[in-house]
Amino acid sequence: MGEIIPHWLTKQAELSPNRIAIEWEDGRRVTFHQLKTRSQQLARKLANSGVKKGSHVAILSPNSMEMITAIHALSYLGAVIVLLNIRLTAEELNFQVKDAEVSHLLTDDSMLETGQKLNVNVITSFTMAEKSAEKDVALQEEINLDDPFTIMYTSGTTGFPKGVVHTYGNHWWSAISSALNLGLNQADKWLIPLPLFHVSGLSTLLKGIIYGMPVYLFVKFDERRVHEAIMTKGITIISVVAVMLQRWLHIMEEGERPDKLRCALLGGGPAPKSLLEKAKKRNIPVFQSYGMTETSSQIATLSPTDALRKLGSAGKPLFPAQLRIDKKDNEKIGEIVVKGPMVTKGYYNRDDANRDAFTDGWLKTGDLGYLDEDGYLYVVDRRKDLIISGGENIYPSEIEGVLSGMEQVKEVGVAGKGDPDWGQVPVAFVVPRGKIAKEEIYRFLQQKLAKYKWPKEIYFVDALPRNAANKLVRHKLLDLMDQT
Ligand code: ATP
Ligand code: MG
Repeated sequence: MGEIIPHWLTKQAELSPNRIAIEWEDGRRVTFHQLKTRSQQLARKLANSGVKKGSHVAILSPNSMEMITAIHALSYLGAVIVLLNIRLTAEELNFQVKDAEVSHLLTDDSMLETGQKLNVNVITSFTMAEKSAEKDVALQEEINLDDPFTIMYTSGTTGFPKGVVHTYGNHWWSAISSALNLGLNQADKWLIPLPLFHVSGLSTLLKGIIYGMPVYLFVKFDERRVHEAIMTKGITIISVVAVMLQRWLHIMEEGERPDKLRCALLGGGPAPKSLLEKAKKRNIPVFQSYGMTETSSQIATLSPTDALRKLGSAGKPLFPAQLRIDKKDNEKIGEIVVKGPMVTKGYYNRDDANRDAFTDGWLKTGDLGYLDEDGYLYVVDRRKDLIISGGENIYPSEIEGVLSGMEQVKEVGVAGKGDPDWGQVPVAFVVPRGKIAKEEIYRFLQQKLAKYKWPKEIYFVDALPRNAANKLVRHKLLDLMDQT
């Protein structure tokens, strides 16, 4: 039996009823009291269509007030929420709703048509749900931290997406860990330009409830409007991925200082060093972080005071978390393994993956990395993408990092290709900016990369294969060879 706490939204509505819980870029605002009332109302309406404790209910929606209300409504019913990525195709969505054994689907009105293509028994748009009558049911007054709350699929960068089950406790500890790291401030307002169906967005939404902190939401990232909000709306923390930070820095005027901003939490993937240096120059307090869907948001973070001294590091594990490197004695780099109360207990219905990934509460992340002499984490690459060439380990991200420093390289992906002599060799796929010759690329590499790491072949392509989370899918790169 897990720890019991009062329902977090009910509690916060008691503690700070009139405080702003949600603020939208268009000016709409909702207090904690209003959010609770609306969510409880919607819970009673959803109960009418048969949603009850333990039901698996999927949500297909861009960021919206209705989506947020639905998330809390479902938690008042004790249902398990499956958050779907709206950029997925109907086929991909069908895989997930089947895999997660979804019985009910709630969609944004704009997504109803897509929703109706899915194999789910009960399909309802938010507007349809609002119109139903309220059923007199008992709502959850307490939260058992061991109960499952959400199922969220991994991005599917290295294979088929896996359904990560997050308990209330995982989200609770993620929020607590982050607070112990960043501290809480009465004036905090956290901007979310990321989708709530990703763990980065959802976890911040829940931090808002647990901290009693307003979250400032965007439906879609827009660098100008985000900049405007940071400069004029009292934003103190923002979550970003590297491209967003890049685009924001690009439009910032010389001399502009976002004075109130105390943290730009950078996550989701690797960040080029040039970007971190640029942010430092602009006085943006970037906290580089490492995490994954399985860890319910960041599990390690680097504070800005260390940002340049430890450039490129993802810092140290958060207080309740442990992290170690599984490696051979004579090697520096190994697999990152993590443990902590924010780490999922497992993938939904995936005994095989669970057996592979979990031992004694430790999760094998599938990522390679190392700790420096001060215990700072450096993430190197994904284990599956490692290229072994003539007995030497080659990390595609290192080659990509170097090549992306070239002005004429807009995007680049590197993968290993089978080779009769070397076992595997690295091959590069470049989306050029303007005209560029292969010789120029090799000349650029002369000073920067040991020769055995040079891509044996370079292909110019129009676009790189990316998944719905916009991540580079390296195992699909080699397919591009046939197209050039
Ligand atoms: P799948 O597990 O289905 O292949 P995915 O791992 O891309 O997809 P996510 O959970 O969205 O799914 O992403 C987590 C991954 O992002 C991490 O395992 C890691 O590979 C990468 N990542 C996160 N933070 C960093 C970082 N600071 N540096 C490098 N890579 C990072
Ligand atoms: Mg993963």
